[in-house]
Amino acid sequence: MKATELTLTTAVESLPGVDAAAAAGLRRMGLRCVADLLLHAPSRYRRTRPWQQLEQVAAEAATDTRDEMVVRGEVVSIDRGFGRSSKVVVVIEDESGEMDLVFFNQPWIRRKLHPGMRLTATGQARVYRKRAQIANPTWSLLEPSAPLVPPTSSEGPAVLTPVYPASDAVSSDALADIIERILPDATALLEDHLTDAYRTDRNLPSLRVAYQHLHRPEFEEQMLAARRRLALDELLMLQLGVMMKRYHRHTHLQAAPLPRTPEVRQRIAARIPFEPTPAQQRVMDEIGDDLASSVPMNRLLQGDVGSGKTVVAVAAMLQAVAHGKQAALVSPTELLAEQHDRTIRALLRDAPVRIALLTGSASPAQRRDLLDQIAGGEVDLVIGTHAVLTSDVMFRDLAVAVTDEQHRFGVRQRAALRSKAADETRSPHQLVMTATPIPRTLSLTIFGDLDVSVIDEMPPGRSPVETVHVVPSAANGVYEDVAARAHRGERTFIVVPLIDESETGLTDLNSHLERLSTGPLRACRMAAMHGRLDAAERDDVMQGFRCGETDVLLATTVIEVGVDVPEATLMVIEDADRFGLAQLHQLRGRVGRGDMPGRCVLISEPRTDEGRRRLEAMVETTDGFRIAERDFEIRGPGELFGARQSGMPPFRIAALPRDLELLGLARRDAEAWIADDPLLTRPEHGLLRRRLLKAHGTWLGLGDVG
Ligand code: ADP
Ligand code: MG
Repeated sequence: MKATELTLTTAVESLPGVDAAAAAGLRRMGLRCVADLLLHAPSRYRRTRPWQQLEQVAAEAATDTRDEMVVRGEVVSIDRGFGRSSKVVVVIEDESGEMDLVFFNQPWIRRKLHPGMRLTATGQARVYRKRAQIANPTWSLLEPSAPLVPPTSSEGPAVLTPVYPASDAVSSDALADIIERILPDATALLEDHLTDAYRTDRNLPSLRVAYQHLHRPEFEEQMLAARRRLALDELLMLQLGVMMKRYHRHTHLQAAPLPRTPEVRQRIAARIPFEPTPAQQRVMDEIGDDLASSVPMNRLLQGDVGSGKTVVAVAAMLQAVAHGKQAALVSPTELLAEQHDRTIRALLRDAPVRIALLTGSASPAQRRDLLDQIAGGEVDLVIGTHAVLTSDVMFRDLAVAVTDEQHRFGVRQRAALRSKAADETRSPHQLVMTATPIPRTLSLTIFGDLDVSVIDEMPPGRSPVETVHVVPSAANGVYEDVAARAHRGERTFIVVPLIDESETGLTDLNSHLERLSTGPLRACRMAAMHGRLDAAERDDVMQGFRCGETDVLLATTVIEVGVDVPEATLMVIEDADRFGLAQLHQLRGRVGRGDMPGRCVLISEPRTDEGRRRLEAMVETTDGFRIAERDFEIRGPGELFGARQSGMPPFRIAALPRDLELLGLARRDAEAWIADDPLLTRPEHGLLRRRLLKAHGTWLGLGDVG
């Protein structure tokens, strides 16, 4: 193919040097055309120093360099190493000194190499028992007469070789070849969406140069500058998208203003059966002020499990109802929706508020009936699961929408709620509640358009849940405690990871129920709760546990979020190392919600190091923010928490928190641009705007902006 024919959409099949097998392999990696290849960034670079004499390499080996060294030498001796593993030690020398080449699990080396042969070898050098060595080098034989002294002075910068994410079908080296071949022509096709002036100002290479240097840097500085440019690009696009959206919300979207008159305040206060904590009061004020405005609220409420978010939600919803408008409360599970329905009906017992529970369990006829009432305005407050969001649900006048326990932060779901408003420019006020603290790095990025309120104190009289780790062989003592509590009228949750028996050997609900109810918990009244029960069965089981007909509830993680039974004092978690840290913390939050102190017992023989660290974190702290930090440490910064579920495309080059400083820069620049050209409609922003909408338009719901 002639260079002139190459375009960014040229298919990989028609590239020089790519045969059918390689093309198929590329496609399986999602690399379909030239543009995909350009965007396929190296995960790292191998750094190789030019050939140096052995003495110098030995000196380098004593430093902690990770560069690869190239050496040449004559074989002096070949020996089997000591120890159990197969190891061959080849000593080579040149004029300056000697060095060991160590081959693990390659016994055939002893037949290939003989004293007097000359070879060149490449690999990382290190010092082991005072001798310089390269372990498992790549090597090849040289002519017997090959020189062993490098031609000129050996000092020089390392050569960088890209290492690509690869597959069995296409190796990193094969990718490097393919990309190198198209690189000059492909980069020449790139148009920059950042102006020269901006690039000069920020000292950024052009897009062409950046991609050239990303794939084939001559010096480390070039690679770093390329990465900086491309990472800033990603962060800038994201920030521009988020701010465009914010601008749009403030200028184009209208919500019903719901002023907090003294009368409204009084009516809400009358419904709350206890004195709000100062933290609850503060966030109720923040939310109350937002609701009074015609700019749609977009607020995240963070508060640890048990901090009392429900009444805050109720207050917000009542502010809508007081103005004759509707409100909705959306929960992640039916169980939680059902519980909210019960709690809120009790709170609003004597108030003229019409409440409907809408979940996936409603029969088609019931559902149709409810939908009519919601559309007709005969219902003030709709409590439900995400089923509430399906497209056939229309509200007469939805003014406040609350999403509870949203640790998945579906931005799309929030967009769906917005579209429930009567016309495109109307939006309900939105409140998202979560017990999972969001790292600041994240709230700055994808939730940059979200205001945040925090409940940072617990209602009075709570003592932290005492948490212990018990090995399975000591579990009988735990069950004795369960039985003793039942005898005193206290209740226990026992959580297992599975419903049915499986080959994993993990505790399953069915066998465990059988074992406990015929064994250590013979004297207790037990019931089981899991995701396969229908709404009526669930209701029966929960009701029995709540009113004390059941002492022990054996459950799967369906009870993870929100379940509120104040008499439950003990949480036993079987195979606890199998649960995520956030999940364990949520489960623990199910006990100690009343006057009596709670206890959480983690039964487990941890099978992995991570599992063990999760249990340690649980025993060490009950603070949700510390738990979240620990979770971040244990899982590593690999995936930005919650980002995937939001629908945000993953970063290709940027990484947080590593690029936090660039994020700050992106944020400042994006703010200035949007202040100046809010929807990026100026001609010089045309390309930027197109690329921005392509990357972020859908998940951010910028459709009506474009
Ligand atoms: P979460 O934040 O986990 O959703 P809830 O709203 O379910 O917490 O509240 C946990 C428990 O604390 C509930 O039983 C609730 O009635 C009670 N509660 C909430 N706020 C207060 C308060 N200010 N004083 C006393 N009890 C409270
Ligand atoms: Mg809750």
